[in-house]
Amino acid sequence: MHIDVNNAFLSWTAVDLLKKGHKDIRYEYAVIAGDESKRTGIVLAKSTPAKKKGIKTAETLYSARKKCPYLSVYPPNRELYDAMSKKLFQLLSNYTIDIEVVSIDECFLDYTKVKNIYGDEIKFAYKIKDEIYRKLGFTVNIGIANNKLCAKMASDFTKPNKVHTLYENEVKTKMWPLSVEDLYGIGKSSAQKLQNLNIKTIKDLALADKTMLYPYFKNQTQHIIDIANGIDNEEVVSQKTDSKCISTTYTLLYDYDDINEINKELKKISNKLSYELRCQNKYCQTIAVIIKDMYFKTTTHQTRLKNSTNNGDIIYEISTNLFKEHWDLTPIRLIGIRLDSLTNNNDYQISLFENIEERCEKDNLDKTLDYLRKKYGNDIIK
Ligand SMILES: [Mg+2]
Repeated sequence: MHIDVNNAFLSWTAVDLLKKGHKDIRYEYAVIAGDESKRTGIVLAKSTPAKKKGIKTAETLYSARKKCPYLSVYPPNRELYDAMSKKLFQLLSNYTIDIEVVSIDECFLDYTKVKNIYGDEIKFAYKIKDEIYRKLGFTVNIGIANNKLCAKMASDFTKPNKVHTLYENEVKTKMWPLSVEDLYGIGKSSAQKLQNLNIKTIKDLALADKTMLYPYFKNQTQHIIDIANGIDNEEVVSQKTDSKCISTTYTLLYDYDDINEINKELKKISNKLSYELRCQNKYCQTIAVIIKDMYFKTTTHQTRLKNSTNNGDIIYEISTNLFKEHWDLTPIRLIGIRLDSLTNNNDYQISLFENIEERCEKDNLDKTLDYLRKKYGNDIIK
């Protein structure tokens, strides 16, 4: 099953405002958008009425206002989204641990392993959909299928508050008629190439001649034909816990393609993890960067350090380098850092080229910051 919150940021804001006696913004011309003062802020989420006015996610607020002058704009609220997201995944984890969180508002749930406990999957999907609404106040779409790809496609069919199936024997009737650009995993440039080849629907692609496509898609050819046929063998990968490492991943508010923005997130994560290490009196010897792109492809790139560290700046520097080295420019939706090979000491090997004074200063700075955080709380330093 693929479970996806309808208009997540807007719905969550609506639920929060309702508690404060506000009208339900889900039924008004409303959007969530960044920095209104600049008018360059982009729309992160829209209500159904706003959508009917033609407002699209990722368009500028300036352009959205032209389509709908009476638009209400609400700022994004990361803390609220994290809290709502956590509540959702907690509710689901009451039923199974086999949940793969793919972004702040969606996850896959492997029902096969618990079907003998809860019975018919469609009934179950309706039950949890309604439970989410009753307990948390927002609606979700649930897609049910034999694999992740089709479940993801199914949850996207019609919205909101719907359960859809896309079983193997439904691929031809429910998925093939859709435009090829709606096929999950086909990016903009591939969609354009396919259009140029007169491949318009998913069916056209499913039945396309592999040798004809090969010059354009090379070693991806079989893959894109497979997905058009609803073939996908990816497993649901649930979060594993390992006490020998610590990690933090951060699902982004939208798909990031700007390296500076991504580095800012890496900075926050580095500071958080280095603080955790120092609280436990530990050092790490391996640093890994976790990247999940907009197609849910997850990759991890790691490096082993000569000297173990718990310094935030060093972790930041290494993780940004790893990221830069390995990023294929596909917009990303999740970024994280994992610190491995934790030790209790740092037998430090002094490098000939290192400035020892600078290192001591950095360590002292970290100590001072930690002291302030412990005394006044995490948010004291911005
Ligand atoms: Mg969603």
